[in-house]
Amino acid sequence: MTISDQPQACDVAIIGGGAAGTLAAIGVLRAATAALRVVIVEPQLPLGRGVAYATRHPEHLLNVPAGKMSGFPDRPDDFLDYLVEQRAFPQLQRDALARTFVPRLHYAGYLRRRLQQAVDASPAQLDVRAGRVVALERHADGVVLQLDSGQPLLAGRVALCSGNALRPLPARGAGAVAAGKRVEAWDFDAVRGIPTNADVAIVGSGLSMADSVVSLAAAGHKGHVHVLSRHALLPLPHAAGPAADYDPQPLLAMPLRQRLRMLRRHAAEAALRGIPWQNVMERIRPLGQALWQSLTPDDQRRFLRHVVRYWDVHRHRIAVPVHAQLMELRRQGRLHLHRGRLETVVAEGACVHLVALDPRRCPFQLDVQCVINATGVEMRAQAMRNPLLQQLLGSGIARPGPHGIGVDSSADGSLLDAEGVADARIRVVGSLRIGTLWESLAIPELRVQADDVAHRFV
Ligand SMILES: Cc1cc2nc3c(=O)[nH]c(=O)nc-3n(C[C@H](O)[C@H](O)[C@H](O)COP(=O)(O)OP(=O)(O)OC[C@H]3O[C@@H](n4cnc5c(N)ncnc54)[C@H](O)[C@@H]3O)c2cc1C
Repeated sequence: MTISDQPQACDVAIIGGGAAGTLAAIGVLRAATAALRVVIVEPQLPLGRGVAYATRHPEHLLNVPAGKMSGFPDRPDDFLDYLVEQRAFPQLQRDALARTFVPRLHYAGYLRRRLQQAVDASPAQLDVRAGRVVALERHADGVVLQLDSGQPLLAGRVALCSGNALRPLPARGAGAVAAGKRVEAWDFDAVRGIPTNADVAIVGSGLSMADSVVSLAAAGHKGHVHVLSRHALLPLPHAAGPAADYDPQPLLAMPLRQRLRMLRRHAAEAALRGIPWQNVMERIRPLGQALWQSLTPDDQRRFLRHVVRYWDVHRHRIAVPVHAQLMELRRQGRLHLHRGRLETVVAEGACVHLVALDPRRCPFQLDVQCVINATGVEMRAQAMRNPLLQQLLGSGIARPGPHGIGVDSSADGSLLDAEGVADARIRVVGSLRIGTLWESLAIPELRVQADDVAHRFV
């Protein structure tokens, strides 16, 4: 693997070197039978980190057990094999390790190790370009990527793996609050650096909030933590116990309301047999994309408007120790949950004042020393503040995905332009496919998409 700043042409360009881009590169290198040239463009090296796996902090756990985090559909135990090879948890037997929620910091190292092995074994060559793609043009002889360095790169095929973006803090005045008093939840080091005696408001109550709370605790934080969100729903924990054994296929034929009723009934019946509701959800996990795609557009809209918050807390669960820590802090009266919509944020001296409206639209105020933006993943591509996506949408090379979320892609992942015409040279991997697939963020989906792209490109 070489790190290069020379302009060049390549057979395959991969935009983004987070988990999705790294998996796509491994797939192409493994599938190659001839001397292809592959380039990954990524501003935040080393590869494999992206947002989720950039954390250096051991309190940030994977929200999926190690045994389910393989990067490769044909090697389901591969992450487990890596942890065993590395002797990362010598005290744990392999089957116990498979059930463990290990720190996320192991995952980027895993991806890089497999990438290096793929490079060593492949006739293809990989170049890693430190930079950001800011524009893309389609020509008859290939796709030209413009990098922020000003250098063009001509590529035969392109995998668009630009991943996740954090929503901006949704409040007037937020931009005027100085860094240090306003911290992004995905800036894991900054969260750890918040003074231990500061009272903190966290806006958003999902997985990024949980990351922030455990980081504050790990840093010895003694202040109060106020969590503010519109629905005040905290993430729910995983559970062990017997698997649920109902047949989920009939759900696909049902409209949304009937589907949710049926799921609740399955959960109630499972509970009578000592099976936790979590395992009822686990049973439909592999059907996530089919469940979305079998809804009518109207039912998809209803889901986004009325159901998604409740769905998220049941579907995106957290490791049991993380949940226990949140509950203990609540019990101690140090973690406070507020339901409301943030309106304004104003910094004054050492204080940050947040004004929010409660469900009856009555204003209330939180006075803290620091606010953390944990509002989560931005789903609208236009709002992602990514110049490349703005250029793609502005020039009509791409169009927003269904319901305005992500970008539109065909069933095989080809980018669809403003007219709905697919360009098979440009394939989308990961979160940008959310409007079409819904389940398109986590490793189980990324590994399948990356593998598919690799085989179509080679
Ligand atoms: C905090 C957090 C925890 C998570 N935990 C888990 C978990 O435990 N298990 C699980 O399965 N999933 C988890 N996820 C889901 C996670 O999104 C995926 O597992 C995975 O990390 C997504 O990888 P990605 O490469 O698609 O996106 P990202 O991680 O966002 O990486 C995209 C990369 O593309 C680069 N990029 C963007 N635009 C450009 C451009 N124009 N030019 C060049 N490069 C560009 C970015 O710099 C970035 O490095 C978590 C997500 C988050 C946010």
